[in-house]
Amino acid sequence: MIDKILEKNDPGLSDVTALLNAEGRDRGLLFEKARQVKAEHVGNKVYLRGLIEFSNICAKDCFYCGIRRSNSRVPRYDLSDEEILNAAYFAYKNRYGSIVMQSGELTGPHFTERVEGLLDGIRESTEGNLRVTLSCGEQTPETYERWFRAGADRYLLRIETSSRELYSRLHPNDEKHSFDKRLQALRDLRSAGFQVGTGVMIGLPFQTTEDLARDLLWMKSIDIDMVGMGPYLEHKDTPLYTYRDLLLPKQARFELSLKMIAILRILMKDINIAASTAMQTIDPQGRERAIDAGANVFMPNITPCRVREFYKLYEDKPCTDENPDDCRRCVEQRIASVSNDVAYDEWGDSGHYLKRTRPADR
Ligand code: SAH
Repeated sequence: MIDKILEKNDPGLSDVTALLNAEGRDRGLLFEKARQVKAEHVGNKVYLRGLIEFSNICAKDCFYCGIRRSNSRVPRYDLSDEEILNAAYFAYKNRYGSIVMQSGELTGPHFTERVEGLLDGIRESTEGNLRVTLSCGEQTPETYERWFRAGADRYLLRIETSSRELYSRLHPNDEKHSFDKRLQALRDLRSAGFQVGTGVMIGLPFQTTEDLARDLLWMKSIDIDMVGMGPYLEHKDTPLYTYRDLLLPKQARFELSLKMIAILRILMKDINIAASTAMQTIDPQGRERAIDAGANVFMPNITPCRVREFYKLYEDKPCTDENPDDCRRCVEQRIASVSNDVAYDEWGDSGHYLKRTRPADR
């Protein structure tokens, strides 16, 4: 039966749910197919994005997140412009091709201008040779446009779950945490010209396998360019921790995450899919296994060591005690261990985005 589903061009909800439940031989067929699609459509090379977690100050209060505003146990930091520019230059010098600048969610003219200034600085110091992804939450359309004009190329904004109902159980019920606004932000990002990425958490309390299947079909329906998704990991200083007894064991969340990646690769052959850090929290080889399952983007952490331990969205986050140089060496070994190659000095734009925006070139 799985064989038939894997041949379909347009699998439906029951098909995708069946793939998420695949075991034994069927499971093997799923991963084999994903590997085949990956080799054919994006190749066995992995693009790097140096990850700079530049501030953990956040105005939001998401029930799952360790850096939510109400968590007074986490010391807050905001890297200096110099530290951020140095980290970006480190990525450039080490031939990473691109960076991701991520932060808690802040809004307002000061933040907009600051990020704009940083984008200018990065472009100058790298002569425009470093692609920049921003992951700074929901902003106004004008802010997105300004950042795009200042040289940001891509934007990551996870929907967290495509189920409106589940979303409302994971967030306070107010204007700041509106599902509709998050959806609108994804549309605004697209209009501003970005390569747009989204994603979900896998194994949340109250989440069903069918919810996850719907997440994948939703990503396809909005024709997304990039995806980063990974297991939900409980954090004891957050409200969602109350429901920890409802969670699947961590290994099962990991397994579901691998299947989500493999199925997404089959559904959306030419998009960029990241091997999330959260995967490595559960399995020491988690990110390599994600690459083997269909991911083609790896995000070495290049945040300065002095603050790394404070960007804890979840507990047991790996690599918080390593410096950027250690990460660089370790990345290559990890990627080689699953017979993939590191794509140095490559921007690694989403093939899907290129086809979507420049069909005439192809
Ligand atoms: N402020 C930005 C970046 C958020 S942090 C924004 O709003 O988009 C990046 C991602 O970490 C979140 O989108 C969420 O999917 C993930 N995350 C947060 N808490 C988590 C947890 N407890 N377990 C797993 N992933 C988590």
